[in-house]
Amino acid sequence: MTAGGFDGVERRGLMFVLSSPSGAGKTTLSRMLLEREPGLKMSVSATTRAMRPGEVEGRDYFFVDKPKFEKMVEQGELLEWATVFDNLYGTPRAPVEAALSAGQDVLFDIDWQGTQQLHQKASVDVVRVFILPPSAADLEKRLHTRAQDSDEVIRGRMSRATHELSHWAEYDYIVVNQNVDDAFAEVQSILKAERLKRERRTGLTEFVRKLQRQLEK
Ligand code: 5GP
Repeated sequence: MTAGGFDGVERRGLMFVLSSPSGAGKTTLSRMLLEREPGLKMSVSATTRAMRPGEVEGRDYFFVDKPKFEKMVEQGELLEWATVFDNLYGTPRAPVEAALSAGQDVLFDIDWQGTQQLHQKASVDVVRVFILPPSAADLEKRLHTRAQDSDEVIRGRMSRATHELSHWAEYDYIVVNQNVDDAFAEVQSILKAERLKRERRTGLTEFVRKLQRQLEK
């Protein structure tokens, strides 16, 4: 589980979690991060929910039926899983482990239930970021603009947002998405700082020893 640091110091890969009520802009922020942060790989979840227009199998989700999902749970193929809006969602274990051991960091777009499970399993390697909308009106506007869901689904998502919000204190960082560019800069700063944490930088001892040897010459 080591990643080459940009400065040549080896470090462990980290698991970067973004959670928020839906409509807070998390999907946009995830896409921006993936575009601009080489070394970060998205964890693609499995879900039993129906595919939305524009979504692509294997890119946005692995769309599976309930029996298949239950089989994945039974066989221990999921790192975490949860029921969200009456559908099942879960993180396939193998791709995450493969990415981490190939020296990559992994980005997760999962809810608070999944975040808790991930944190229980790998707390030191998990960085939890919660995205807040600036206001309820803003959240509702974004859900409507997305135009992917019926009014009934949107009402459901709004009422669930209250519940989601109550979990903010379980996260390491809170970003208010008032303006997407500012929010992105904040999220990116968190990732950069977390990559520099001493505990993750497994190559530091060796790096400093080498420096000392050079100084002693
Ligand atoms: P959506 O249906 O809008 O794509 O996602 C609904 C919610 O499910 C979002 O809050 C998203 O973060 C969450 N979610 C997506 N994939 C997973 C997963 O693998 N595990 C968990 N626990 N939540 C997920």
